Amino acid sequence: MATHSLEADYLIIGSGAVGMAFADVLLAETDASIIIADRHHKPGGHWNDAYSFVTLHQPSAYYGVNSRELSKGRKDEVGLNQGLHELASGAEVSAYFDQIMKHQFLPSGRVQYFPMCEYEGDGKFSSRMSDDTYEVKINKKTVDATYFKTSVPSTHTPSYTVADGVKMHPLNDLPNMEEKPSAYVVVGGGKTAIDACLWLLETGADPDDIRWIMPRDGWLIDRENTQPTEEFFTRTIGAQANQMEAIAGATSIENLFDRLEASGVLLRIDQSVRPQMYHGATISRDEISELRRIKNIIRLGRVKHIETDQIIFEQGALPSDADALYIDCSARAVPVTEQFPVFDGDLITCKPCEPFNRCFPAPLSPMWKPPATTKKRKTTSARLCRYPILTLTGLS
Ligand SMILES: Cc1cc2nc3c(=O)[nH]c(=O)nc-3n(C[C@H](O)[C@H](O)[C@H](O)COP(=O)(O)OP(=O)(O)OC[C@H]3O[C@@H](n4cnc5c(N)ncnc54)[C@H](O)[C@@H]3O)c2cc1C
Repeated sequence: MATHSLEADYLIIGSGAVGMAFADVLLAETDASIIIADRHHKPGGHWNDAYSFVTLHQPSAYYGVNSRELSKGRKDEVGLNQGLHELASGAEVSAYFDQIMKHQFLPSGRVQYFPMCEYEGDGKFSSRMSDDTYEVKINKKTVDATYFKTSVPSTHTPSYTVADGVKMHPLNDLPNMEEKPSAYVVVGGGKTAIDACLWLLETGADPDDIRWIMPRDGWLIDRENTQPTEEFFTRTIGAQANQMEAIAGATSIENLFDRLEASGVLLRIDQSVRPQMYHGATISRDEISELRRIKNIIRLGRVKHIETDQIIFEQGALPSDADALYIDCSARAVPVTEQFPVFDGDLITCKPCEPFNRCFPAPLSPMWKPPATTKKRKTTSARLCRYPILTLTGLS
């Protein structure tokens, strides 16, 4: 076992979107030296564990680091996002962060990157591959870029129990399925479940073979209101004005959501069911129409236990059969996290300052005084102008 002594101005824990965005601004606007440690083998955080058909749900133009556009500036010409700005696939997002590390950060000579390392606190981390440990003398700040604790299906443990013999898979396994099951049972009401249902429909599954367990319906953001170009100015800025009017006129949280729906800011899949959550999932109207082809939606609360012949819910039970395939989509991409101050002595914790846009806060967080030659922060200002600013998340 070897203990290595290192020194840097900033130690960043996490090379996900947030850690990368933070480091990118440090590189552009200061002379600081940086060490980045992460338990993953590549930058990009949870995108390394994503299912193969995942995409961003917001336009690529809003995602990534300040210095390099992820978006190619294109609109989709086919598919359920047709006519709207492109959504990068998980593979594109992973490759993007990998390229930034390899071709920008490391060649700068100011970044040292330690993948496959577990942070232990007090400036110390250890290799997951050997007995090596590292102690960093930090001249300025430690940056915790792990705050969001994003949970994805492949690394998530469901809160319900499953009996032996039940066929239960994370989304990642779906494309490798060998036999058609008697039914596809999608567990979860959020964006991941929407992705699962859309993938099943797109690849030819019969909507009647899909059973969608929806513990809670969600309010959904209309993607057409979040487009980054002038062509969509009226929709995007109009939606922001509508939000402000709804907030100003609302007499209750319920009334606020009624107003947001009436003005076209928010959508729901089933007009007859009142949504109980709002997690910022963003969707196109074509995707909603497609999802409405699924008629077998089960609303009996959360799943508690799955047997080979029945599903037990908070509010009842339903028969099932041993040949049904359960797809767990109950991981929560927006987990409830503990509250910490952003600035706490020598520690910076990157937290959201704009809802539903995780790359945005990192460039804003640094406490340093920028040098006189500071470049214009195009990301922050551009994103502020273009992104809807609904901040009321009364439902959780
Ligand atoms: C399917 C999906 C689609 C999404 N689409 C969008 C979108 O369109 N737009 C958008 O803005 N957001 C989207 N999000 C939200 C997304 O979570 C954020 O955009 C962003 O990727 C979160 O980045 P992060 O750096 O906070 O977290 P992560 O990606 O989880 O990165 C944190 C990193 O910290 C590391 N780490 C944690 N603890 C330790 C430790 N003790 N030691 C070492 N390393 C550690 C982890 O290994 C990880 O690599 C989506 C999320 C999901 C799941």
